[in-house]
Amino acid sequence: MAQPFSSRKAKIYADVPEEKWNDWRWQLSNRLNSAEDIEKIFPLTESERKALNSSGLFRVDVTPYFISLIDPDDPEDPIRKQIIPRSEEMNAFTSMMEDSLAEDRHSPVPGLVHRYPDRVLMLVTTQCASYCRYCTRSRIVGDPGQTFNRQEFEAQIEYIKNTPQIRDVLLSGGDPLVLAPKILEDLLTRLREIPHIEIIRIGSRVPVFMPQRVTQELADMLSNFHPLWMNIHVNHPNEISAELAQATDRLTRAGIQLGNQCVLLAGVNDCVHIQRELVHKLVRVRVRPYYLYQCDLVEGAGHFRTPVAKGIEIIEGLRGHTSGYAVPQYIVDGPGGGGKIPLQPNYQISMSDHKIILRNYEGYITTYEEPVDYKIHDPKTCKACQAKRPEMGQTGLTGLLDGDQLFIKPEGFDNLHQRGGGEHRLKDESKWKPLGIGND
Ligand SMILES: *Cc1c(COP(=O)(O)O)cnc(C)c1O
Repeated sequence: MAQPFSSRKAKIYADVPEEKWNDWRWQLSNRLNSAEDIEKIFPLTESERKALNSSGLFRVDVTPYFISLIDPDDPEDPIRKQIIPRSEEMNAFTSMMEDSLAEDRHSPVPGLVHRYPDRVLMLVTTQCASYCRYCTRSRIVGDPGQTFNRQEFEAQIEYIKNTPQIRDVLLSGGDPLVLAPKILEDLLTRLREIPHIEIIRIGSRVPVFMPQRVTQELADMLSNFHPLWMNIHVNHPNEISAELAQATDRLTRAGIQLGNQCVLLAGVNDCVHIQRELVHKLVRVRVRPYYLYQCDLVEGAGHFRTPVAKGIEIIEGLRGHTSGYAVPQYIVDGPGGGGKIPLQPNYQISMSDHKIILRNYEGYITTYEEPVDYKIHDPKTCKACQAKRPEMGQTGLTGLLDGDQLFIKPEGFDNLHQRGGGEHRLKDESKWKPLGIGND
């Protein structure tokens, strides 16, 4: 038997009866949010006190359960840094943005982000159980006055109903699991009534901040809406407690596939060894590491940023060294709405027309001989190619490979290259007319 997971309660909660402690409503209404509250758990540093007493701070709130996981004697505790503000949070940095992922630009209706062809992100609340200091949506999250109203919610549903290419709806926020149980159930019911919705996903840090919310009743309710997937958000092995293990056990037994989205944070988890311990603990509680994110260029998060190279180094230390199930995909979410871009160490060393040279995780260099008699896949006789759904759009490089388009040009490219007056251009230019992007 592997080591069991532990359970902690800060000293001041020693006398709180179990039934209160295990009640998520008690956890929510006893959250800590001021210097005075937090100082009852551990002494604050100068930097923390200054931040907590400043105005215009992104919302602070921590559940008694989560703050109890912090080592009161360690000002550098990795959980503490995620939820207790520090004065560095007020520092501006180059290329800092309010909406670094340009989500607002991709919103056809308020609270709905349609960035990718077949899936949408639905922001269902601005409220969370506790607030991460590096929140990518700090521009809207935390403000109780900004929460989405009934009319906006109806407009979101209406858009999804009228957009048949959407097959995957991702509920996020804020945190969907802080919604009143009835509201969450109604929302899931409404989505399941839409025939083209194949899967529903929930992005939530509630199992981590407040595992008490994951009651058997909640797991049973969610299991009525399969196929349902859930991504949780654990950044450090210390967050994996007996309570979290119980919550993930309930969700898994209810048939919910669990993934983890981790954010790479300086001074918290920017270490191969910490990441390896994290992914090992995650797979033990049956959570599959899904993404490891490079920290976004968001206001207040400057002191959490690491070089991109750190993420590559972490993947280098995981792939091959441990179970493939335990290795997340490292992602940079491209600023300006570039979307998720996967990065990994280079395993390809060189290639010729018949051979590719590769190295493995140990540095062993090998060759893979290419087939000499490969019969080229013919889209003209392939039923799947012929049936491809044209409304998908956003084909990009796949469109180039498909042969629908020959090139993608940056804006203004033609004007810049008209200098020769045109006499050197290709004779039969029609051959160069793409069907989609760049067709001008
Ligand atoms: C992350 C994200 C998704 C989901 O992306 P996957 O790679 O499918 O997990 C969808 N929409 C938006 C706007 C996102 O940011």
